[in-house]
Amino acid sequence: MIEESTPAGGRKFDAFFESLQAAPKRVLMLDYDGTLAPFRLEPHKAVPYPGVCEMLDRVLDDGGTRLAIISGRWIRDLIPLLTLKRMPELWGSHGRERLWPDGQYEFAEISPESTLALFRADAWEGWIRLSGGRVERKPGGLAIHWRGLTGARIDQIRDRVLREWGGIESWGGLDLRDFDGGMELVARGCSKATAVDTILAESGPGTVAAYLGDDLTDEDALAALQGRGLGVLVSDAPHRTAADVWLRPPQGVRDFLARWLRTLQGGEMNS
Ligand SMILES: [Mg+2]
Repeated sequence: MIEESTPAGGRKFDAFFESLQAAPKRVLMLDYDGTLAPFRLEPHKAVPYPGVCEMLDRVLDDGGTRLAIISGRWIRDLIPLLTLKRMPELWGSHGRERLWPDGQYEFAEISPESTLALFRADAWEGWIRLSGGRVERKPGGLAIHWRGLTGARIDQIRDRVLREWGGIESWGGLDLRDFDGGMELVARGCSKATAVDTILAESGPGTVAAYLGDDLTDEDALAALQGRGLGVLVSDAPHRTAADVWLRPPQGVRDFLARWLRTLQGGEMNS
């Protein structure tokens, strides 16, 4: 059973931060929505919780941590929300895109089958909007959002998505997945686990890593990290997860970042 804990105490956190202090390389991987920022009905208003950007700035200023934000959003939609002094490494569209701090951009190609199937799903937008939902297009994906709608409306949209999905599933190349607040069509080949595997492979032996995330799509990343770092579920209540510990947002996240900073500054032993 997952351990409920706070970064200020708890066996797993204590062991983790002890190893972090001695680590030659440190990696901090963070989901965005629901982890660093609250959910909003208007996603372009979902700015980070108070205090979070200041702490991320300090982690980046210190220079002793490879910091990556790993989101399901299109990177171009994520950047305006981050009021940071400098950009960390950003991964978008569930591991399909990467933007390095120096501006270099990488994108994993989408198969022709996935492209055709997504093109067909584009036609769903009209009825989704009429039902009160919202469509979010991103590279290699199409998210259907229903946050804020009544249960009956959500059921109506979900039922129709499943019916329509039956018509394009055979085109291949796409998966239909649930997330907190909707469903998403995602081109196969990339997930948040892609980002975790890539970063850990690049960082090499001796790396001490943590991943913080809240949603079903973060479970790919948390599963990829198992045995290689600390997986942290950010949630108001625990659920089935591959994480090692769970925190309540936003204070638990702030406490985690504060302890990370104290550790970087070598003050962990005195805290
Ligand atoms: Mg999230």
